[in-house]
Amino acid sequence: MNNVSFTDLKLSPEILKALAEAGYTTPTPIQAQAIPAVLEGHDLMAGAQTGTGKTAAFALPMLQKLLPHASSSTSPARHPVRALILVPTRELAIQVEENIKTYARHTHLRSLVVFGGVDIKQQTPHLKAGVEILVATPGRLLDHIEQKTVLLNQVQMLVLDEADRMLDMGFMPALKRILALLPRQRQSLMFSATFSSEIKKLSEDFMNYPTLIEVARSNASAENITQKVYLVEQANKHQLLAKLLQGDDAKQVIVFTKTKLTASRLARELQREGVSADAIHGDKSQLERMQVLESFKQGKVSVLIATDVAARGLDIDSLPMVINYEIPHAAEDYVHRIGRTGRAGASGTAISLVSPEEEKYLLEIEKLIKTEIQKERVSSPGPGAKTHRAQRGEASEHRREYHASAPKKPSHDPWFDKPYEPSVSAAPPAKKAVEPPAGKPKAQIPALFVRRSG
Ligand code: AMP
Repeated sequence: MNNVSFTDLKLSPEILKALAEAGYTTPTPIQAQAIPAVLEGHDLMAGAQTGTGKTAAFALPMLQKLLPHASSSTSPARHPVRALILVPTRELAIQVEENIKTYARHTHLRSLVVFGGVDIKQQTPHLKAGVEILVATPGRLLDHIEQKTVLLNQVQMLVLDEADRMLDMGFMPALKRILALLPRQRQSLMFSATFSSEIKKLSEDFMNYPTLIEVARSNASAENITQKVYLVEQANKHQLLAKLLQGDDAKQVIVFTKTKLTASRLARELQREGVSADAIHGDKSQLERMQVLESFKQGKVSVLIATDVAARGLDIDSLPMVINYEIPHAAEDYVHRIGRTGRAGASGTAISLVSPEEEKYLLEIEKLIKTEIQKERVSSPGPGAKTHRAQRGEASEHRREYHASAPKKPSHDPWFDKPYEPSVSAAPPAKKAVEPPAGKPKAQIPALFVRRSG
């Protein structure tokens, strides 16, 4: 715990006022460490994930340092780009800029976000009007550079946010081109969830003796997240998911899949079953992605199915649960995924459905987070289980059946090898039993969906 206050961090009244209005009372550990270092002018390399408060950790001292340049003049010349924030995804770009707008609301500093997938012409007039703080994805920034709609020769501060993900997404060549255009005399900050050798090399290439800050160990997963694994055949995952989605904690859930295809299919299937679900992935247009995210944030959609890239950096308040429908093959992605829950001190639950084929990846994850995750083996549908394909077909029949006819209070849940006793902090309790219509014989109900009593 740190006892530092925002006032101790020597932030200006305009910024303090905005923080108070946003309901921030105490700096998070990364903020308590990073803000003084940035204000002193050091380059910074910080190991911190989304959810730690890292955006404010760079945005607040950035605003503080830019304040003397703030001008109420409308002349574009008075608003050159002085701070450049590069981020890997459009969603993160939007969120970062939204945060900056919040913190800068009582200043004359201007910010703008530019990202691909939308008409570049719409961004140009805003850029030309002049902005001190530019948040951008690398590809779209290069487009603007080529079209000469942005000048970067007055940049005095550079932030690479989620640098590890930028490298994973192949942005290294774009980054190098952009870095070459920036003044050498500048302050550089880099935020990364992991410190791979590539990240270290990148930091050596573009930073000057950076101050190193790590809030939690970079590869450790958050302590306030309860993790649980269900060992389950791939073909039975859908049914287990449907069951988990009925839990009390499952009012707002992100379900992760490995591929866009699975994300779309799962969203469609869940929608057919009456679950308010939608998918967010790279094949959707920017507009669609923003609409889905907004519906999820507003609670109109309760289950967001996402691939790793699409979900990266999503800031959704008080998300109580994430479910890994398929576990990631890169162990570090697991840490990113479960970081969507348990934010800003809240507790969260991360459930992973792990098939026998995926168990080797689970071992890697446990090695990385240095924790053995609690496991529960979930039974197969029982004798007479068919081939995967046949089973899947049958399962969808069963799902339809379930919504029409699941019993309210069966006595035992044969899904689980031992009676299913979810603890408060682990799997969600079963709930929302669908009333069977009168006259439906119980024998038609597949054992798979029978829930325990109470
Ligand atoms: P970030 O890691 O920057 O994505 O921030 C995660 C969430 O924590 C965002 O919703 C922020 O608005 C919020 N947050 C950041 N700093 C603080 C703070 N000091 N007090 C309360 N909430 C914060």
